[in-house]
Amino acid sequence: METAPLPLIDPFARPITYLRVSVTDRCDFRCTYCMAEHMQFLPKKELLTLEELDRLCTGFIGLGVRKLRVTGGEPLVRRGIMGFFTAVARHLETGALDELTLTTNGSQLARFADDLAALGMRRVNVSLDTLDATKFAEITRWGRLDPVLEGIRAAARAGMRVKINTVALKGFNEDELFALVDWCGAEGHDLTFIEVMPMGEMGEEQRLEQYWPLTDLRARLAERFTVTETGERSGGPARYVRLSETGQRIGFITPLSHNFCESCNRVRVTCTGELFMCLGQEDSADLRAPLRAHPDDDAPLVAAIRAAIARKPKGHDFDYSRTHVSGQMSRHMSHTGG
Ligand code: SAM
Ligand code: SF4
Repeated sequence: METAPLPLIDPFARPITYLRVSVTDRCDFRCTYCMAEHMQFLPKKELLTLEELDRLCTGFIGLGVRKLRVTGGEPLVRRGIMGFFTAVARHLETGALDELTLTTNGSQLARFADDLAALGMRRVNVSLDTLDATKFAEITRWGRLDPVLEGIRAAARAGMRVKINTVALKGFNEDELFALVDWCGAEGHDLTFIEVMPMGEMGEEQRLEQYWPLTDLRARLAERFTVTETGERSGGPARYVRLSETGQRIGFITPLSHNFCESCNRVRVTCTGELFMCLGQEDSADLRAPLRAHPDDDAPLVAAIRAAIARKPKGHDFDYSRTHVSGQMSRHMSHTGG
């Protein structure tokens, strides 16, 4: 009888059960904190094909990954992406995978929501930093608010839970804190705030100008609501509070604090098949080479995954001090996949 392969456990005894995979570096938006306006995208041949992405995800699922989040770039702009979703959804049917989910800017969601729900997607994260159409155009450079709101409505109508991810940006959406909370409450969406991270090439000065610490944001929330810590953890950098008055759950992602590394259960793969064991460290492993060199044999891929997990570091080195940003990463979020 065939025995199940040993699950992925890293050197700090953390089981790796969550894979975030970026399926493209391209995007129809140019959010100012994420991309340069004139991004140089990778040549197509560098990207994993949809078949290679499927083999890669299937390899991880075979090693015990239970949750798969598809991200980018903007995943829904990749041509043929529904074919990929349909293929990996077979692991939901067999029970090998608990959850298949997506992080999207929402621009194409209205087109895809029904099909995604039909193949078993139950939740989707939509990034939305403002409810003001003019500010939306400003922060995304190329985006329009209306199609995103329509996409969110379509996802909810299709029966998916929507979580709104909002990057907290000083001087940009500080004044919309309560508007965003109220809107999410009225629409029944979860809401998570993300602290802006030192990714990509944005200048240090600009970064610090944008930085709105979530401790501050939380204190502002407490001026209007009774805010209670829930103690819920997702194995990631999110912490949750509940607002007693409305019952809403609000998440805070503070990747710059070290409070989550000890329970980290995740790794990331870029659209070129680079496996990053930690969002905040440079070390990576090339999974494209074993995929391409052995199109009919997954054993070298599995060996490469295991060797990389054996090097997963304890934590990251991000740090904002009052005067400088250290541990800054040169790669863009759209490359690693947020
Ligand atoms: N395009 C999709 C989207 O926007 O949801 C998926 C990819 S995007 C890189 C994933 C998440 O990363 C988004 O919620 C985005 O707001 C966030 N993000 C991008 N750059 C960031 C940064 N420098 N700091 C914090 N969050 C960032
Ligand atoms: Fe595109 Fe998402 Fe980056 Fe905005 S945050 S530029 S939508 S990848």
